[in-house]
Amino acid sequence: MEENNIKVHVKNLKKSFGKLEVLKDISIDIKEGEVIVLLGPSGSGKSTFLRCLNQLEQATDGLIVVDGNEITSKQTDINKVRENIGMVFQHFNLFPHKTVLENIMMAPVELKKMTKAEAKEEGMRLLKRVGMAEKADVYPVQLSGGQKQRVAIARALAMNPDVMLFDEPTSALDPEMVGEVLTVMKELAAEGMTMAVVTHEIGFAREVANRIIFMDAGYIVEEGTPEEVINHPKEPRTIDFLNKVL
Ligand code: ADP
Ligand code: MG
Repeated sequence: MEENNIKVHVKNLKKSFGKLEVLKDISIDIKEGEVIVLLGPSGSGKSTFLRCLNQLEQATDGLIVVDGNEITSKQTDINKVRENIGMVFQHFNLFPHKTVLENIMMAPVELKKMTKAEAKEEGMRLLKRVGMAEKADVYPVQLSGGQKQRVAIARALAMNPDVMLFDEPTSALDPEMVGEVLTVMKELAAEGMTMAVVTHEIGFAREVANRIIFMDAGYIVEEGTPEEVINHPKEPRTIDFLNKVL
């Protein structure tokens, strides 16, 4: 594996909140175009890990390199790094007083200094891609959960990120809306986006993940292909977790 194929390099990452050690020693490399799915019980540190990757949380110790930039270094412009890493949350986090299209145009205009015309054109292209073009001028309150999440994905893509992080993107959705969001994510994966996805959707993990990372209590307990980790888990904690979610 060549060094320049590695999009995300994490070495001995630790994160504590006060005395609470949440990430105890995480090391992982994510290759360009790779889709990893993070599984693990509630409280195991999955969200904290994703949040460290885009500096929503500051690592307590260890090294994180994204696209060759050491983001754990004080010298690095975190805003520039963040622009390069899209994040999609469980609760959408759309701006309620802006229309769908305005939600998508905002960051490119303010942070990338794109003209409004360019941002609008790009925004419409992305809305088409997630099947939401006809809702460009409505407000988030008028959308279903699945529609909101598709807009949130388009908004993250508008910054043209190299890496996309998804933190339980379908957990807040009614069951009938999960599929439409997973479909968009599958398409993104097929197009070669580098992705780290926290989800309990085992079917998605099986089908789309190149690698499954099973976390528990701040450590990576087991990792491998979906075939290895989901169908033939070795570690008791992985087996116990899968018995509960499958
Ligand atoms: P997961 O996403 O796997 O459910 P989290 O990363 O959200 O786990 O949380 C791991 C642990 O860290 C939990 O015990 C949680 O309460 C704690 N935690 C997360 N964020 C904070 C914070 N900002 N301050 C204090 N404790 C936190
Ligand atoms: Mg979480």
